[in-house]
Amino acid sequence: MTDKDSYRDMLAAVQSFHDKHDFKNTGGEELAYRIALMTEELGEISACVTKGKNVESLAEECADLMILLLGTAIAADFKLDDAFWAKMEKIEQRKSRMINGRIRVSEFRDT
Ligand SMILES: [Mg+2]
Repeated sequence: MTDKDSYRDMLAAVQSFHDKHDFKNTGGEELAYRIALMTEELGEISACVTKGKNVESLAEECADLMILLLGTAIAADFKLDDAFWAKMEKIEQRKSRMINGRIRVSEFRDT
């Protein structure tokens, strides 16, 4: 049974989607193409904000991007969960700063 809180099960669902459409042998796992698809979804996320769409629409477009991200991890053969935790550990160490009225967490190299 699927554990909806499990990264492993989410990845397996995306893998099964790739297999169903044979993405590996039909260009669906080519990185340049995947970047274009992810950019397209990012645009749709942006439109949710600029066009004042409801939160359900925003969630759906974010899910589209997340599915593509998991698929990109499959296509490029890296472990996104490991990368996520390694990066979280890194950004937890960073400082924040207010810039033009908004908070920014980054490696500020000028300090
Ligand atoms: Mg979409």
